[in-house]
Amino acid sequence: MLKNPTSRFIKVKCSQCKNEQTVFNKPASQVMCLVCGKILMEPHGGKGKVQTKVVQVME
Ligand SMILES: [Zn+2]
Repeated sequence: MLKNPTSRFIKVKCSQCKNEQTVFNKPASQVMCLVCGKILMEPHGGKGKVQTKVVQVME
């Protein structure tokens, strides 16, 4: 099993349309809402910058 403590998936909720989706916390590019296209995450210094509400962090 691959173990990387800084890489995980988080569940975020779109602040615009309330869609929930699971995203990688270190995206290589912008992550957009699958429903409305709002930007949910942006790559930021090797990490992801969350632009919306985090619902849950996957362990
Ligand atoms: Zn949305």
